Order: sequence, then structure tokens, then C-alpha cells
Amino acid sequence: MLRATKAIQAIQAIRGMNDILPDQIYLWEFFEQTVREWMAAYGYRNIRMPIVEQTDLFVRSIGAVTDIVEKEMYSFLDNLNGDSLTLRPEGTASCVRAVLEHNLLYAGPQRLYYSGPMFRHERPQKGRYRQFHQVGVEALGYAGPDIDAELIVMCAELWKKLGISDVRLEIGTLGGAESRALHRARLIRYLERHLGKLDDDARRRLHSNPLRILDSKNSAMREIIDGAPQLLDDLDEDSLAHFEKLQRILRGQGIDFEINPRLVRGLDYYNRTVFEWITGKLGAQGAVCAGGRYDGLVEQIGGKAASACGFAMGVERVLALMMECGKEIPHPLPDVYVVHQGASATDGFAWQTVRLLRDWGLKAVLHCGGGGFKAQMKKADASGARFAVIIGDDEAQAGEISIKPLREAAEQVRVGLAEAADLLKRA
Ligand code: ATP
Ligand code: MG
Repeated sequence: MLRATKAIQAIQAIRGMNDILPDQIYLWEFFEQTVREWMAAYGYRNIRMPIVEQTDLFVRSIGAVTDIVEKEMYSFLDNLNGDSLTLRPEGTASCVRAVLEHNLLYAGPQRLYYSGPMFRHERPQKGRYRQFHQVGVEALGYAGPDIDAELIVMCAELWKKLGISDVRLEIGTLGGAESRALHRARLIRYLERHLGKLDDDARRRLHSNPLRILDSKNSAMREIIDGAPQLLDDLDEDSLAHFEKLQRILRGQGIDFEINPRLVRGLDYYNRTVFEWITGKLGAQGAVCAGGRYDGLVEQIGGKAASACGFAMGVERVLALMMECGKEIPHPLPDVYVVHQGASATDGFAWQTVRLLRDWGLKAVLHCGGGGFKAQMKKADASGARFAVIIGDDEAQAGEISIKPLREAAEQVRVGLAEAADLLKRA
């Protein structure tokens, strides 16, 4: 008979796509709960979009000549009908698509948020993954700088709730369509004069997306970028007024910021306000949250023109920063671990008791898998529970339970169920 000689190779997760294990989940759940309460407090409603969309949605919204569309998207052909589909690299495009598809703007402006995994084919490293998570917030149908300010004020509030201190705010403005066109022409003239010092990406983008050249991370181009003409100098009056009002509100709310004239967001669709929250505590991946105004996008996706503004934060980076800042979050542990032995205890009474404990609002784990009292007590201790409830045949017959505190040097007591309720609910 033939015998398999080769061990079966274990299958591993895809590089840059992480499992989030139970030991870390309390952190995520704390964050998610905080976000839910925070959003509700500001009147933002949750929206959930599919993870897969038509590729064209992202090409049209993010822009064909961007890092995301050029090299980071997970796109594939649908086997059944040949459609080109893409795992969403960000949420704004899907959110706007959903809002248009369901005519939500007819009911008036919308304050929305979503959260979930995003996918980008990047080189995985600390703080940069191929599946990562974002919380995105979008305010659609609001034109004024007040909503831009609200979004920023809201972020500052969230950092406080999460115990994050080491994060600074940069703001900038990209102006309106006219000032961008003016600036674009000036920028191209400037960059053409320095053609020899541009890298390949920059040369390719010179005429298609010159603004994005300013966003380059290539340090060899630092000098060229620093010397480039600034959009602030070409700013139209309305955009300038918008930018100044934003600053006034932020100052009034005690929000510190720096103006960064070079702040160009990675995506194409922004205009006017752009902002980014940056930390020095996470090394190269210091951008934790980024956003801005994108008044042109709704029309670009096929809707009736509408103003829009939003931001997205990288959840992995925010959580890492939270830890760096020393935020302590309690592990949710069971209150009670029920140890039981003997037929009458095990077949009915232990089950009734554990159900009662849960009715009292306690987190109660029923020991499963048999074994002697000693082994079960070890499990009780390892579970992190504050109390072991011990049930043997004796207890079962008397309708009583024994309670042993596991985290303090106190005596074990044997009590009836009514007294147990008092004792455990008070503890
Ligand atoms: P970066 O400059 O770091 O590549 P970006 O400009 O591509 O960021 P956005 O598209 O603005 O990022 O996304 C908003 C936020 O999502 C970022 O500020 C960051 O916190 C997070 N983020 C983006 N890409 C990744 C990734 N590959 N892994 C983890 N987080 C990410
Ligand atoms: Mg990126």
C-alpha cells in the first residue's frame, strides 16, 4: 500500500492580511463601542456598503493616475459575467454611490459613518497592511466651512476619549476648480524647468496629475517639492474666505493646528479643505486620520452636484497609538466559573445555576469536558473569573452552591440560591 510521506503543508493567511485574535479583541471592541457612542453623540448615522464594487467606481472617483488605482487595487473578473470588480480600497466612493443609488440626499443633507476592512496591494510593514480597517465619516450636502470644522472638532474629541495625546493637526486648502487650474499650470511650468530631477512616477504624472507629485515620498525630490509654487498664492477669494472661517472656528474651539501648504491628499477628488492628523509615535506610518472636502465627487459619480466633506482614520494605527499613549482598557473576564461533579449536580442543577447566574447579569462560564475538582479549579483560575461556583452532589441535593473567591484571600461559603444572588450581585 502507498503511504503518504509528505506532511501536508499548513495554509497561512495572505501576507499583509491579519487575524485579530481574542487577546486583542477587547481593544477593538472598546474602540468600536467608543466610536458608536461618539458618532451617535454628534448625530451621525451608520451606513454599511458591500466590500466589492464595480472597478469603475474607484477609477472614476479616486482618479486613474493615483497610487491606489495604478497599483494598489485588488481587481478581478467576475467569472459569471466578466465584470471587473474590486475589493474596496477606501469607503468614500462606495458611500457616495449608495447615497445616490438610494436617493438619500432628497431627504436633505446626510451625516454618515461606516467602518470595516479596506484592501490595498501595498508592501506590508508596521502600520501598513493589505487588509486594514477604516472608520470613515462623510457629511453630504453641506457646503460651509462649519461642517469641515465639526469634523475636525469631532476627531479631537475622539482622541480624548481614546486617551491619545500625541497627535497634531495639519490643515490646508486646495482651492476651487479655477484656482486649481491656475495653480496646476504654474506647477507644470515649474516642474518642467526641473525635469532632470524628477523621478519616473513624477515625469509620468507631470501633465496628468502634477499636484500628486508634491505628495511624493521620494526624498531625492524633496528640494524640488519644497521650492514649488504654493497653491495658497493662487487661491480664489471664496476659497480663501472658506479657509479663514474654518481657522476661526477651530481657534474658537481651542484646536491647535498648523497650516501645511503642501498638504495634498493621496486621492484625486479633494477641493478646498484638506486635513491630516499625524503622530510622531508610530514611525514612518504616522498619518492616523485624513480627510477634506470633495465637492466634485457626487457629480463625478453621476449624481446631481452636491457638497461633501469627510475623513477616514486607519483603525490599526489609531489602536497602536492608543497603546503607545498608555491607554489602559480592562479585559472583559467572566465573573463566575462553575465547577461541578456528580450525576445530580452535572445533569441538571449546574445547568440551572449557570442560567440563573446569567439572568442575574453575571458573565458565567459552565465547565465543560469533565475531570476532577482539582483540574476544574485550575481551569476556573485560568479563566480569570473572580469566583468559582462549586457544585457537587451534596450541594445539588440541598439546592445550594459553594462560592469561592479566586482573586482575594477570602473563605469559601456555602449558601442557598437567594443568598448567592445577593452575594454575587453585590460583589
Ligand atoms: P499613507 O500616506 O499612509 O499611504 P493614504 O494617504 O494612502 O495614507 P488615506 O487613503 O487617506 O491614506 O486613508 C486614510 C487613513 O487610512 C490613513 O491616514 C491611514 O491611517 C490609513 N491607511 C491607509 N492605508 C493604509 C494601509 N495600507 N494600512 C493601514 N492603514 C492605512
Ligand atoms: Mg497610501
